[in-house]
Amino acid sequence: MKNSIELISIGTELLSGRTLNTHAQTLGAVLSEIGLSLSRDTTIPDSIKTIQSAVREAFERVDIVIVSGGLGPTSDDITREALAALFNRDIVSSPSALEEIKKRYAARGYPMNPASERMALIIEGAETLINSAGAAAAQRLDPETGKTLFVVPGPPNEFAAVLNDHIVPWLRKNFPDAVPLELRVLTTQGIGESAIVTLLENSTFQCSPALPVLSEAEGRELEGELSIGFYPGFGRVEIRLTAPKKKAALLDQTERTLRKLLHDHLID
Ligand code: ATP
Repeated sequence: MKNSIELISIGTELLSGRTLNTHAQTLGAVLSEIGLSLSRDTTIPDSIKTIQSAVREAFERVDIVIVSGGLGPTSDDITREALAALFNRDIVSSPSALEEIKKRYAARGYPMNPASERMALIIEGAETLINSAGAAAAQRLDPETGKTLFVVPGPPNEFAAVLNDHIVPWLRKNFPDAVPLELRVLTTQGIGESAIVTLLENSTFQCSPALPVLSEAEGRELEGELSIGFYPGFGRVEIRLTAPKKKAALLDQTERTLRKLLHDHLID
């Protein structure tokens, strides 16, 4: 899938209930603004074999994979070793990353030590992506033609910094024709999902089960491009409509029609 990206979050703590994995939310929002999609989010423990199989399998489906976590100085930070072995590469010290770490430590009055130097290690052939929010360097590697791997530190503020500073500009440059999505959100209360769907299906606007609120002509124009999602929780249902930005007028029309139909139940 050309416009799809997979995320692999590495961290045993993410699977034990101790830490909420927030990366898919951060990444998914940014990708839909660009017009790309996050097609899979995989969370795995700190295990070399599992990291290698997860990345290998992801590259069988998509061309761009983002791996996060396990780049720190401690013994459970094994991401680089796992990836270097997977792609038959050595691990080398990145001069620019080491320079940044030294500056960061000097600014805080911390002495450098072998463990801090480990955070400047990258996979041979990778491009260093300076992490403006932390010490561990991020990196971009093209393991083979047409395949790109981003390796990003796990802490959410560092993940977001590398995403915004490096990954987003790279994606925008490499996907100039990506079509950004427009989102509309309606929130209902006091009406269940099945009652909402029944109401829509019985409406006079019905033209197809997928696009129940448009006229036939509008439906044809948006066919396959409009998506309607229902997200229930706490007595409310959030209805999310998305369509390509260039179809915003039709999206507005869909939203207006839905708002009329659900008028008595809308709270937002
Ligand atoms: P560091 O240099 O800080 O060690 P790292 O890349 O090694 O960075 P981890 O050691 O995997 O990152 O995680 C560091 C911290 O960030 C931990 O507190 C961890 O719970 C948190 N973290 C890692 N991944 C995620 C995630 N996907 N969502 C939320 N928090 C995360």
